[in-house]
Parts: sequence; structure tokens; C-alpha cells
Amino acid sequence: MDAQPDSSTEDSALESKRLPVLAVTIAFLMVVAVSILSIHAIQVTNSKAHELEQARLTSGNLAWSIEQQATDTFDEANLILEELIERLGDLSPAALEKTQKLLKKRVFTTEQLHGLFFYDTHGRWVLTSFDYQPVAANNSDRDYFKFHQQNVTLSPRIGPALRSRTTGEWVIPFSRRVNDAHGNFKGVVLATIKMSYFDSFFARFNIDDKGAIFLALPQGTIIARRPFDENLIGSSLAKGEIFSIHLPNAPADTVMVNSIIDGVDRLFGYRMLQKYPLVVAAANSRDAILSSWRADTYKMTGMIALVLLVNLLVGVLLYKQVRKGLRVESHLKKARSELQALVLQDGLTGLANRRHLERSLELEWLRAARQRSSISLIMLDIDHFKSFNDQYGHVAGDHCISAVAQAIDQCVRRPSDLAVRYGGEEFAVLLPDTEPGGAYVLAESIRLAVQELAIAHTENPAGVVTVSLGVYSCVPSTSDFKTLLMQADSALYMAKRAGRNQTVPTS
Ligand code: GH3
Ligand code: MG
Ligand code: MG
Repeated sequence: MDAQPDSSTEDSALESKRLPVLAVTIAFLMVVAVSILSIHAIQVTNSKAHELEQARLTSGNLAWSIEQQATDTFDEANLILEELIERLGDLSPAALEKTQKLLKKRVFTTEQLHGLFFYDTHGRWVLTSFDYQPVAANNSDRDYFKFHQQNVTLSPRIGPALRSRTTGEWVIPFSRRVNDAHGNFKGVVLATIKMSYFDSFFARFNIDDKGAIFLALPQGTIIARRPFDENLIGSSLAKGEIFSIHLPNAPADTVMVNSIIDGVDRLFGYRMLQKYPLVVAAANSRDAILSSWRADTYKMTGMIALVLLVNLLVGVLLYKQVRKGLRVESHLKKARSELQALVLQDGLTGLANRRHLERSLELEWLRAARQRSSISLIMLDIDHFKSFNDQYGHVAGDHCISAVAQAIDQCVRRPSDLAVRYGGEEFAVLLPDTEPGGAYVLAESIRLAVQELAIAHTENPAGVVTVSLGVYSCVPSTSDFKTLLMQADSALYMAKRAGRNQTVPTS
């Protein structure tokens, strides 16, 4: 059957323009989720980098201020030692007494000073800011004494912290060599600086609980540290990253370091002092630096997880709705096509109905006109059917109509041909692209097929059910397709008039 209902062509055009709703829904939800996650990841990474950058600046600034203060501390001590060295030109008892008074005054007025001393070439105590001297005190065993004895440099030396022989306090020895007028070794001047002073000055700087500040010699020996731990004084950081890796490359920098002392990660700002052989370093712990970032990240991640969950729930809902919609749609489509088939089909015989014929007729008529091809129509009607009904009853009449329909259907072979129940016991066969000869042959084969059904019909002169057929063939030249129906119908009328059970071809 050739003639396709118009609506299905429209449907397939619409279908091809339509997006795959389910796939688009899933893709959309995925894009939303991936976008949210990506934005979150970028935001988290950026804010972490920002926090670390801020902390880097802070650590750098801290190290710088500590350098300033440490330099000032040692500068003051250095000036006092210079003053003392000048006065050592006169070692007369009177002069010594005066100088000792001055030393006491300096220690009293200078917060960081623990004591001031002068030792002669043998390490014997000549002068001290203290009122008492240990009996037979001799400091020739101290490292700083040996250093100045053996090195001609007049630069100050800062040594590892040690316990004072006078007070037992932790002090940092700051010493210089003293020469006589001829440049020979005359002894050593020493200022001991209270480690507690550094402790309190470190306390002025804001670092977190796990942070650290230290002052060390260039080879890594710790001389002061916050938090204070007596056991760490004098221990070496030489193997730590700052001294082994970073300091040899840059005299000042900020670096993330895992401490060899306590395993804590810290962001250190370190600096080698410009004036003194010392390294200062200050650090906040990585944990503290990132704590607010971490809290924010947890909060944001929680919120985003919530948003994603809602997204997922809405997504599942949407997915279900879309699927339900698609299912309803496919049911509707199926129902519609069934309905369409019913609308165009005859209920009793299963052949196409008159409406179907009228639709197809116009299309085929126009096509034949376009292609200048021949189109034929067979109209047929059961002979003496009224009396068949009267004799055998309506139910038998219906069976007879069905049997005739089947016979017609079996004769019609080409897919483009359309067999139709036109009315009560009238049928039609539309034959596109068919010459008069071919149409006549088909009509005759139908006639014979019906006769061969041999359905008894005593009121019919043939004794069985027969049909009369009218055939009309033409190449359409007018636009009025109804001509085809009218002409075939009048040929049928002629067949009836001529005695029935025959075919009348016209063209
Ligand atoms: P003719 O040879 O001139 O065609 O004589 P006829 O008796 O067949 O005359 P006509 O075609 O006018 O009669 C049609 C009859 O067919 C009328 C009606 O009783 C019967 N008929 C029409 N439709 C149906 C149907 O669906 N079922 C049954 N059983 N009978 C039908
Ligand atoms: Mg009739
Ligand atoms: Mg009839």
C-alpha cells in the first residue's frame, strides 16, 4: 500500500530536529556538577596559594625585623666593648677601678648585658662588671679565648651559648681580641648577653603555638630559640634544610621546611645578618597558616556537597520525569498509529476503507499527472446481494463480503496497489502506474477468483456468488481525480446492465 499518511512524514521531520532529551538531561546535569566542582577546586587552590603567599610575606618581614633587633643588640654591645678597649691603654689600679665602675654602669643600664670582662694574655680575669671574681679564675679554656689568641682578626666573635661561671645563667659570649700598641695579643674583652633577653624579645613577635624563631651561628649551632628548650641550646641545625640547602644558595629567603627537631612543617623566613656572623629565622607552622583556609574549605566543600546532592536529587527526578514522558510519548505514538490504521481500515474485511482510498487517490492522481503515467481504478460490486442476504441472512452476507475481500486481496500483488472496501458490498482497487490491459487482466482474475470461491447463491443465475467489475484507465490531464471514480463506476454500471459477472474496461 503506497499512500503514506501525511502525519507520519511530519513526525519524522520533527523527530530528526529533536534533541535526545534523556542524553541532554544527563549531560546537562553532569556539566553542572563538573562546573561546580571545577570552580570549587580552582577557588580552593587559589585561596591556598594566597594564604601561603601572605604567610611568606609575614615570615620574610618577621625575619627582617628580628635581624634589625639582633643587629641593634649586638651593635650596642660592640660599642661598649670598643669603649672598654680604649680604656685598656691604662691598666693602672686607679684606671682599672674607674673602668670597672663604668662597666658596672653599662651592665646596669643595658638590658641585654649580663656581664663585661677583660682577660689578659693568659686568660686571667683582669676586669669584670661583677663585684666578685671566682678564685683564681681563668678563662683560657673557653673557645672564644682560644679563638682570639690564635686569630689576628679584630672583628667581634659570637660564640655558642654557655653557662656563666659567675651566675650560672645561659649567656651568649660576644668577644673581641685586644692588641697592644705593637699589634701583639694583649687579651680578650667579652660581653655576655643574656639568653633570656632574646627569649623576651622573641616573645614580642607574633607566631603561632607551633611556630619557631631561632638565632644560630652560620654553621647551624642554635644560640637562642623560641619556644625555649634548654636541651636544644648548642645543638646543631647543620643537617636541616635551611643550613644544608637554602642558605648556601641565598642569604635570605622564605622556605617551607620540615623541622629536623620536631618534624613540624613550617614556613621559615631566614636571613643571614649583614653585620654579624649570625642567622635569624622565624616561622609559622603550615598547620596554623592553613587553618582558616582549611576551615573555609571544609565549610565550602560541605555546602557544595549539599548543592551537588540537591542537583543529583533534582537530576534523578528530572531523569525519571523525562523517561516517564518518553514512555508516555511512545505509548501515545503507538496508540496513534494504531488509531490511524483503524481510521483508514475497514473493520469487517481488513482492507483499506473509503477514506483511505480518497486520500491515496488524490496523491496517486497527481503523481501520475506529473509522471505522465497511466493510472487505473477497478470498481466491483457483488451481484444480487440483496437476495443473498434475504436468503442466507445477514451474518452469512458478512462472511460472503469477507471472503470476496480476501479473494481480491490475494489477486492484488504489487505493493503500490490498494484494495479497498468502498461501501456495503462494493469494492475498489487503485492501480497506480498501470495500463488498461494490465488493469483488465487483474479485474478478470478477481472476477474468476470470486467465482471460484463457489459460494452458493441460488438466486444468482450462475448459482454461486459473482461480481461485476468496471475498469477505467487514463493518463491524468485534469486536476479532478473524481473522474476516475465516476468513470469506473459507470463502467461497473455497464457491466451490471450487460448481465453481471463480467468486466467492462473503459479508458
Ligand atoms: P446488483 O446485482 O444490482 O448489485 O444487486 P444487489 O442486490 O446487490 O443490489 P445492491 O448492490 O443495490 O444491493 C446492496 C445490498 O447489499 C443491500 C444490502 O442488503 C446489502 N448489504 C450492504 N452492505 C452490507 C453488509 O455490510 N452486510 C450485509 N450482510 N449486507 C450488506
Ligand atoms: Mg451495491
Ligand atoms: Mg450488488
